[in-house]
Amino acid sequence: MDSILKAKNGAYKCTECKQLKDQFNLTFKVPEIELRDGKIVGNPDEGHFCRPGFTNYPGTLMAQKI
Ligand SMILES: [Zn+2]
Repeated sequence: MDSILKAKNGAYKCTECKQLKDQFNLTFKVPEIELRDGKIVGNPDEGHFCRPGFTNYPGTLMAQKI
């Protein structure tokens, strides 16, 4: 049962950041999270721009688009 949600080891890109990047043609690097033995290695919040409050959040771009 619990194996369903278990992610494999390796590097994962933030899908929300990637979506914003594609949508607005941003030049920011999509942050990657590394999983090792089911645990996140490093700082999972580093480099994100997918939420309000993050430094690079393209909120003004969004406001212009609407
Ligand atoms: Zn993100």
